[in-house]
Amino acid sequence: MLSKELTDKYQLVVGLEVHAQLSTSSKLFAEDASSFGAEPNTHVSVITLGHPGTLPKLNMRAVDYAVRMGLACQCTISRRSSFDRKNYFYPDLPKGYQITQDKEPICIGGKVPFFLEDGSELEVQLNRIHLEEDAGKLIHAPGKEASWVDFNRAGTALIEIVTEPCIRSSEEAVAFLAEIRKLVMYLEICDGTMEEGSLRCDANVSVRLRGTEILGKKVEVKNMNSFRNLGNAIDFEYQRQIELLELGQEIISETRSFDADGCFTSSMRTKEELNDYRYFPEPDLPPLFLTEEWIESVNAQLPALPNALYRKFIAAYGLPRYDAALLTESKDVATWFEALCAKTAQYKAASNWMMGPIKSYLNETGTSFATFPLKVEVVAQLIALVEEGQVSFSVASQKIYPELILNPTVTPLEIAQRLNLIQESDASYLVPLAKEVLLENPDKVKEYKSGKKGLLGLFMGELMKKSGGKADPKVASRIFSELLAN
Ligand code: ADP
Ligand code: MG
Repeated sequence: MLSKELTDKYQLVVGLEVHAQLSTSSKLFAEDASSFGAEPNTHVSVITLGHPGTLPKLNMRAVDYAVRMGLACQCTISRRSSFDRKNYFYPDLPKGYQITQDKEPICIGGKVPFFLEDGSELEVQLNRIHLEEDAGKLIHAPGKEASWVDFNRAGTALIEIVTEPCIRSSEEAVAFLAEIRKLVMYLEICDGTMEEGSLRCDANVSVRLRGTEILGKKVEVKNMNSFRNLGNAIDFEYQRQIELLELGQEIISETRSFDADGCFTSSMRTKEELNDYRYFPEPDLPPLFLTEEWIESVNAQLPALPNALYRKFIAAYGLPRYDAALLTESKDVATWFEALCAKTAQYKAASNWMMGPIKSYLNETGTSFATFPLKVEVVAQLIALVEEGQVSFSVASQKIYPELILNPTVTPLEIAQRLNLIQESDASYLVPLAKEVLLENPDKVKEYKSGKKGLLGLFMGELMKKSGGKADPKVASRIFSELLAN
C-alpha cells in the first residue's frame, strides 16, 4: 500500500484505448460471417486470408455503427476519412498488415460524461474513434510444441475508442469503461461481453509530480478482460512506478501484460523492440466520404442514451440515484420502465417492482423483457391496488403477481377477489380480532406498556394470522395504538 505522503506527491495519469467488436453480420472488408464460436477457419474467404489479387470492400454497416458511437460521444464526424496499412509480422495476421485508420479517423475528439457511484459527474475527453480490422486468434496447445491459428476473427470489424490522458484514478477508468459498455449496447453496435473479448481495453499509465504539467513516461498494459482487472492493473502500475521513481530509477516506456491471478503486470516488450509499423495510406481503398444527409439520418435514429435517462429518472421521476443507475444499466430495462411510467405516476413503486419482483422473475427464468408475460398496464394496475390500500405489497408481489404471470390476461383485481385477498380495513372486523390478540398475550401487553414498543410487531403478526394475512397494516397498527394507549 502507498502512503498518503506518496499519493499526495504523485498524480496518476491514465489514457484508455478501448476496442469494441462491431456486431455486423459480415467482416469489415469481406462478406464472411463474423459470428463468434464457429468451427475454426470456416469463415475465411480469400480476402480474409489476403490472397494476392483480392481487394477489400468497405462494409457500410460498420461505418454506420462507428458513426453512431461518434455521435453518441459528441465527436466531430469526418466528412472525409481514410484507411492506412499498419505493417507487422505475426502469425495471426494473414496479410502481414492490418487495415486501420491512422491520419484521418472517422470520428475526432468527443467526450463521454458519466456518474460515479457517489453521484458525482465526470467527463472523459476522447481523442478519436476509428475503424479497423481485428486479427485472428492463436491457440497455444498446452503440453504440445505447437500452436494453432484460427482466422475466423481475422478481418472482423472493430472500433477503437482512444481517450486523452485525462483519467486520474482507477475508479474513474472503470466507470468510464462501464459507460462505454452501456453505450455500445444501447446503440446495438456491440454485444459488450468482455469475457469473450467483444470489448477489450488497454490502459496507458504514467505518474508525475502533482502540480507539474509535463506527462511522465507511459507504460501500456494489455490483456484486461474485466472491469476488476482494469482497476487492479492501474492500481498496481501506479504503485510500481512511484516505487521506481522513489528509488531514483527511470520508468521505461514499454508494453506490459496483466496477470489476473497474481494481480501484477510484467514486461512484454520495451519501446526499442517495438515494431515500426510503417503506416502508409491503404492503396486498395479510396477515401471514405460521408454526406451531411447520411450523417443526419444516422443521428435521427439514435436511441435515448443511458446518461440522459439517468438524469431524467432522477429529475422527472424523483428516483434515488441508486434506482436510476440500476434502471439505466441496460436499454430494455430502461425502455420498459419508461413505458410503465407512462401508465402510473407512482414512479418509486414502479421502480421497486422493476428491481424486485420483475427482475427476480427475469433472472430466475433467464429471460428478458422481449418475452415477459405482463403488459405495463397490468403492472400499473397492480401498483394501483397497493396504492389504494386494497392489498399489501407483499400480498401483491407474493400472491397476485405469480398468479398473473400464469394468467396474464386477467386483471390483478380479479385475482385478488378470486383468492379472497382484498385487505380488510373495516374497524368493526379488525377491532374484535385485535382485542383477542391482546387478551391472549397479557404478559406482552404489560411489557409493551412498560416501554417495549417493539412488541407492536408481534401483535401485528398475530392479527395477520387471525385475519388470514388480510388486515390492512395501517389501520391495524392504528387500532393497536388506540387499544394500548390506556
Ligand atoms: P502512442 O504514440 O504510444 O500510440 P498516443 O499519444 O497515440 O501514444 O496515445 C495512446 C494512448 O495513450 C492514448 O489513450 C493517450 O491518452 C495515452 N497516453 C499518451 N501519453 C500518456 C501518458 N504520458 N500517460 C498516460 N497515458 C498517456
Ligand atoms: Mg497512437
